[in-house]
Amino acid sequence: MSATTARITAVDTYDVRFPTSRELDGSDAMNPDPDYSAAYVVLRTSDGGHEGHGFTFTIGRGNDVQVAAIDALRPHVVGRPVDELCADPGSLYHDLIGDSQLRWLGPEKGVMHMAIGAVVNAVWDLAAKQQGKPLWQLLADADPEWLVSQIDFRYIADALTPAEALELLRRGKQGADERAATLLQRGYPAYTTSPGWLGYDDEKLTRLARAAVSDGFRQIKLKVGADLADDIRRCRAARAAVGPDIRMAIDANQRWNVAEAVEWTKALAEFAPYWIEEPTSPDDVLGHATIRRQVSPVKVATGEHVQNRIVFKQLLQAGAIDVLQLDSARVGGVNENLAILLLAAKFGVPVCPHAGGVGLCELVQHLSMFDFVALTGTTEDRVIEFVDHLHEHFLDPVVITDGHYRAPTLPGFSAAMHQTSLDTYQYPHGSFWAEELAQKEATA
Ligand SMILES: [Mg+2]
Repeated sequence: MSATTARITAVDTYDVRFPTSRELDGSDAMNPDPDYSAAYVVLRTSDGGHEGHGFTFTIGRGNDVQVAAIDALRPHVVGRPVDELCADPGSLYHDLIGDSQLRWLGPEKGVMHMAIGAVVNAVWDLAAKQQGKPLWQLLADADPEWLVSQIDFRYIADALTPAEALELLRRGKQGADERAATLLQRGYPAYTTSPGWLGYDDEKLTRLARAAVSDGFRQIKLKVGADLADDIRRCRAARAAVGPDIRMAIDANQRWNVAEAVEWTKALAEFAPYWIEEPTSPDDVLGHATIRRQVSPVKVATGEHVQNRIVFKQLLQAGAIDVLQLDSARVGGVNENLAILLLAAKFGVPVCPHAGGVGLCELVQHLSMFDFVALTGTTEDRVIEFVDHLHEHFLDPVVITDGHYRAPTLPGFSAAMHQTSLDTYQYPHGSFWAEELAQKEATA
């Protein structure tokens, strides 16, 4: 190896928290007061060139635990040659999930796995910058054989073999150039959750639901599950605001037992909800299957808390979901999400990703756009969640036009935040929190 080979020299981490709980933005039946947060990581290189940015999303307390988990991965990353890393992010992904001691904390789930996702996504950001392409395009341009080499088929080969994945990707290449042109011209369909937070009153709900339709969205989503009488009233108000032709999803954020999920969903059926999201525990595969059988034609959706490709495999095998909601920052990064996209394609289940939070829209749009251009080739019954919070902190924020995500054109994974945002909202010493904590102390 020559002395000039660029290497990763530092893995810098940041505990970044935004005070979103003040406005009840993001409030739902299980999470009444989230402070949207990011455990944020920057990979720095010895040539001082591109950096890789990544993060995982939390909702406040515990973000320090998440940062500590990323810190624990540092020895695997520092010193790696940048070119090798970018040519094969899967090699790092394998090393991280295979760390024989850290693996005990999962395996492949929870805080440690989300930390792996943050680091792996930072590598993909770096790789896309090196290639001078937005990530969706890097993936769409990649050889199917190489993409298959990036996937860990352990524990999923009973549902999807490497040969089947290769076949799906080869088929996905046909017509990819035309679809890329369509994507750049038209964007990718979005739906919005902004009207439906549980902490908003009916006037705000109605106003935002009407605004969503006039902004071009064809689907909205409401939080439900705290109080049935309230839900009936809110669903009635929202349906009246948007009319019969707009899809209206509902989201219980894991609030219910299986029987309760069925009863509650049926009690809201007169408002024609399109899907019921997270009706119960994300780990309850058979529970979701039972709910799905009993609430049809209301569809069942889940995924934002599904911990890995193996649970997604079972949800698909059990016929437990109509809509798969992968999340860019919950599982082991792009590598594992490629496996999940391919599983969904194999089973013919549409992917409607979870987004919102901090930066989840920025990240996940790349995965759906790749899926459209070079995997399933369709946006039918597919929408990416959109929530209009905190985008101003990003260098390359999402752009929504007429209810569609515009395709990003800047190189990378759209993950980088402004340094001023990091400095202001770093917890507890950033200028915003330092002032807050000082004030609290003064009034105590
Ligand atoms: Mg949700």
